[in-house]
This record gives sequence, structure tokens and C-alpha cells, in this order.
Amino acid sequence: MDMDFTPEELAFQAEVRSFLRAHLNERLVEGARRTPGVFVEPDIGLEWQRILHEKGWLAIHWPVEDGGTGWTPVQRYIFEKECALAGAPALAVLGLKLVGPVICRFGTPEQKARFLPRILSAEDYWCQGYSEPGSGSDLASLKTRAVLERDTYRINGSKIWTTHAHYANWMFCLVRTDPDVSAQRGITFLLVPMDQPGVTVTPIVTMAGDHEVNQVFLDDARSHVGNRIGEEGQGWTIAKFLLENERGGSCFAPKLIADIDQLALTAARVPSGTNGALVHDTEISRKLASLRLRARAFEISELRILAEIAKGRPPGPQTSLVKLFSANLRQELDTLAMEIHGLAGLQLPAERPLYGNEAPEPVGSIEAQMAAGRYLNSRAWTIFGGSDEVQKNIIAKTVLGL
Ligand SMILES: Cc1cc2nc3c(=O)[nH]c(=O)nc-3n(C[C@H](O)[C@H](O)[C@H](O)COP(=O)(O)OP(=O)(O)OC[C@H]3O[C@@H](n4cnc5c(N)ncnc54)[C@H](O)[C@@H]3O)c2cc1C
Repeated sequence: MDMDFTPEELAFQAEVRSFLRAHLNERLVEGARRTPGVFVEPDIGLEWQRILHEKGWLAIHWPVEDGGTGWTPVQRYIFEKECALAGAPALAVLGLKLVGPVICRFGTPEQKARFLPRILSAEDYWCQGYSEPGSGSDLASLKTRAVLERDTYRINGSKIWTTHAHYANWMFCLVRTDPDVSAQRGITFLLVPMDQPGVTVTPIVTMAGDHEVNQVFLDDARSHVGNRIGEEGQGWTIAKFLLENERGGSCFAPKLIADIDQLALTAARVPSGTNGALVHDTEISRKLASLRLRARAFEISELRILAEIAKGRPPGPQTSLVKLFSANLRQELDTLAMEIHGLAGLQLPAERPLYGNEAPEPVGSIEAQMAAGRYLNSRAWTIFGGSDEVQKNIIAKTVLGL
């Protein structure tokens, strides 16, 4: 594949840079920099989303006819790289990257008209109701039952680890509509309004003290049949389409590389008795170089996958490789940060948010203040979206043919 950018791509890169200089404000960059959680908080993420929406640069994963940017995969890559370098906040993926493409692909014209504009404008905020107590890796065993009564589903069950359910006004979920057929064939993809008496959201606070995930109880919750995506029993096919988008189809390497470079700068500021600054310590510089090399190799793999997508081929099980590598590199980076920050990295403030006027003063640098929270929350990377073991099983079966 050709790794050099064309003149048009270089012009696009310059346009993105100039847009970021003009529109990415300090508050957003600080908010992203001072968030120890895995997911961006809505006050930061949605402000950035509105700015991008106004420019028409938001739906990079959607077809043009549904409001997508129409960018080539290389343009998407350039955009994500420049955003990472500029310190832009991540966008809320649940609407834009997960349920949005599902509605584009499987929704009726009425569903597209109703839901897609409200995802872009951030009027709706979505959460994902896949996992249940006892049904995580073995997702097809899920038990939440939906029974169609006239034109409305009555839903009973519970969803768990539901990211940002406490902010969401809609949940896309997998429900069991037919218990008498094989596990996969009895599953349906249903959109459920959160603001109703049958839905209760209870927080689960992470070991770093962040409230990102929840358990959601559905007790005679209701959803109109018009909120069903696809046919009854088609949920598993739709679920797999969505999971491939969740695991891949994005560019993780640019942010990883930007963060490794940032960590090297931090290490250059930490004094070290023997070598002046920690970045010159043999073991630290070896670990930084090793991470950087693997992140660069990973970047080339991501570009290769984008080149495949550009030829019209679906990314398929390669997304499991992307998920596996990016999650492990991220954890390794956050572990090395703890080593570099030393004692200062052990502070774990309880207040949230850690940005804005009320934010507590850091001991030492802001990066040190973030280190422990990032390290603890980072354990989630090898679990959500399918654990490492699940990705390895997929790779063994579909890539290696074992
Ligand atoms: C921060 C965070 C956010 C999340 N957000 C969401 C969300 O928004 N919506 C949602 O639906 N879910 C969400 N999840 C849930 C996530 O998808 C599940 O946690 C994940 O699928 C694992 O399921 P489980 O927790 O039930 O673990 P289990 O499936 O019980 O797995 C336990 C352990 O056994 C291993 N294991 C299981 N099966 C196999 C096998 N066949 N072979 C080898 N090893 C195996 C696993 O790798 C793991 O180590 C989130 C999770 C986290 C941590």
C-alpha cells in the first residue's frame, strides 16, 4: 500500500489543523487532559460534538446519504490524528459510532428521520444495553425478556455495566423475544426510552472513584414496536455488526502515540539522581522506545485496515486484533506513567470533575494527578467491547483457522 499522503490529503490535513486552531478551545483541551475516566463526560464531549456538527465534520462513520462526511478512510485517519495531536476530547461513541451506523444500515426511513438528526444534534444521548449479570462474554445467553402486547413491547430484566446510562434518554438493547428457538435466533434489537417508570438506573462506582457505569433494571418497561430495529430474531446479526464497529473502524494509534510522546516529555521533566532526568534512565527509555515502536507498528496495521475498507472490503475479524493491541498498549502506557510519576502518581483525588474552577490543586503536575485514576480505570480496556480472551478466541477461529 502507498503510505504517502497525496497533495489533496495534505491540503485536507492543513484544513483540519487550521480548523482545530480556530475552534478547539482551551476549556475542551483541559477537560480532556484532566479526565481520568475511560469515557468523556457529556459536558465536554457534547460541546465538542456541537462544534463539529456545525462544521459538518461529525458523522465520520456514517454513509453520506445519512449525513456522513463522505471522507475516505485516509481523511478519517488524518482527522483523528490531528485531533489527537491537538488534545481534542474524544466524542461520545454510543450514538455516533454504535447505534448511529446500525440505524443507517438496518433502520427504516422513518427511524432514520426520527433518530439520526437527534444523534448529531446531541438532543438524544444513548447507552448500550447488551451485557447482563451472567451474560457478558456469553452474550447470546442474555435473558432480558420482551413480549409484544398489541403494538408495544413489555420488557423485564436487567442490564449491567451500562456506560453513561445515568445521562442517557435512550438505550439500544438486546432482548429475548423468543425463548423457544436457539439462543442467537431469539434475540431482537430494541430501542428503549429511559425516561419512564419501568426503568431504574443504579450507579456502579469504579475503583478510581468514577461513576461511568451502571446497572439498569427494566420492570415492565415499555417500548413501541416502531422502536424495533430490523425484524424480531435479527438482533444477533445487528449486534455483531455493531460490535465490529465498536472494536475497530476507528483509529486508536494516533491518540496512543500522542500520549506516549507526552509521557516522554513528562519523563524529561522528572529529575533522576544518576542520569539528570528520568527520560535518560536506561530502563525508562527502553520502555518508552518499546512502546513507541509497537504503537507505530500498530499504526501501520490500522492504516492497512483502512486501505482494505477503502477497497470496499469489510474490516471483519481484524477488528479483534485492533481491539487486543490497542487495549494492551493503553494499559502498558498507563502502567509506565505510574512508574514515571513515582510517589506523586499515587494521589487519587475523590472530587469530580478534575477540571474547571472547583478542581482540586494537583500535587506536582496535572499529569501526576491523573496517573493513578487513569491506571485504575485503564483495567477496563481489556474487558469492555469483549475481553482479551474473547478477542483471542475470535482470532484463533476466524484468522488462524484453529
Ligand atoms: C468500563 C466498562 C464499560 C462497559 N460498558 C458497557 C456498556 O455500555 N454496555 C454493555 O452492554 N456492556 C458494557 N460493559 C460490559 C462488558 O462488555 C463486559 O464486561 C464484557 O463483555 C465481559 O463480560 P463479563 O463482565 O460478564 O465477564 P465474563 O464474561 O464473566 O468473563 C469473566 C472472565 O472469563 C473470561 N472468559 C469468559 N468466557 C471465556 C471463554 N469462552 N474463553 C476464555 N475466557 C473466557 C473473560 O475473558 C474474563 O476474563 C462494560 C464493561 C466495562 C468494564
